[in-house]
Amino acid sequence: MTAPQPSLSDYDAEIAEMLRSEDERQRDSIRLIASENYASRAVMEASASTLTNKYAEGYPGRRYYEGMDVIDPLESLTIERAIALFGAEHANVQPYSGSPANLAILLALCEPGDVTMGLSLPAGGHLTHGWKVSATGIYYRSVQYGVRRDDQRIDMDEVRSMALEHRPKLIWAGHSAYPRLLDFEAFASIADEVGAHLVADIAHISGLVAGKAHPDPVPHCAAVSTTTHKTLRGPRGGLILCRQEHAKAIDKAVFPGLQGGPHCHTTAAKAVAFKEANTPEFRAYAAQIVSNAKALADAMLARGMSLVTGGTENHLLLVDLTNRDIGGRSAARALNRCGVELNANSIPFDPRKPFDPSGIRIGLAALTSRGMTESSMPAVAAFIDAAVQEAAKGDGAVPDDFAAKMRAQIKEFLADFAAPGL
Ligand SMILES: *Cc1c(COP(=O)(O)O)cnc(C)c1O
Repeated sequence: MTAPQPSLSDYDAEIAEMLRSEDERQRDSIRLIASENYASRAVMEASASTLTNKYAEGYPGRRYYEGMDVIDPLESLTIERAIALFGAEHANVQPYSGSPANLAILLALCEPGDVTMGLSLPAGGHLTHGWKVSATGIYYRSVQYGVRRDDQRIDMDEVRSMALEHRPKLIWAGHSAYPRLLDFEAFASIADEVGAHLVADIAHISGLVAGKAHPDPVPHCAAVSTTTHKTLRGPRGGLILCRQEHAKAIDKAVFPGLQGGPHCHTTAAKAVAFKEANTPEFRAYAAQIVSNAKALADAMLARGMSLVTGGTENHLLLVDLTNRDIGGRSAARALNRCGVELNANSIPFDPRKPFDPSGIRIGLAALTSRGMTESSMPAVAAFIDAAVQEAAKGDGAVPDDFAAKMRAQIKEFLADFAAPGL
């Protein structure tokens, strides 16, 4: 039997309606989740292409299937664009996402049981940098560095002394919730000293790196992993860059080590995103993200909000709510009801539990994609502050009329800023 031919809305009204509601939600809320963005229309079109029908295990010129007339040149072009964008020696564009990219790097550069070192989760690191419940912490012996208690920054002296003590095979430099720049040069000199591979995971900041708004890890690292959908603003996916000496091992680890057929529609969308990111407009976008984050930080501080490390140098802020009489989870829920979307997040040395931590995390990539600039940040801070105050008064709950009123105000506020890709 042939596949059904009617359009989605004719064939499956239930799902079509859900997609429509999600479009509306993304259009009408202040989206501050630091890992999210709005992909462009061109990226969305490539993602939704017939390439989703194609199997292509292997690499260009060395495939296990026929019909590669388009797929081979497409993947080669995507690789070329990744290399050009990041100035890398080699790129693998097949990782399904950031987590599999990281596991592939471990598979390529380490043996099971080897010692690895990464920033701990509560200090802003990522699960896949060796946290106990992750495969990266189960199959490898992970030691974790943190941040200093006084200024909440990564202490490179501690990184060095831990590296000398534990002699890791691989050191991760990367984070999901750290509002400051990473000193890749300092990490590299420590890795050199102990004979470790330095791997930067720039999942959150790859758009800033590509846009030259963050120091560049590529010259200092054996390999660099990233997602393509956060500040880089591409499709859901992963990317690995590496030195030529590791190219074979990385490619073998991704396929056949870890994955089957690459998602060719996603490969095409990655190519589009790399093209978009290699432009003066994207460099301006990356700089604007950082300016907006700083402006929002200033506006939050002016309202008496407390920020981890006292501010930001990248796309994100971590707000410490301990002076606000409300937990991060309740605050995030209340904000969501009012039309502001963000997530609860642990802060360093958090006195509360990870599921109900003391902080909220805020990222500026998505709002900046809507064309917002510094001048709108005081209004964003005012929305956040008002909802947090209201929620703190009501023990986490905000009255329906308060939430409805703020939602309406936010819808009006956002009407001047078109949401790309919708
Ligand atoms: C988001 C993130 C990942 C994982 O990406 P997924 O695509 O969600 O698997 C890996 N590392 C860091 C630092 C991240 O922030």
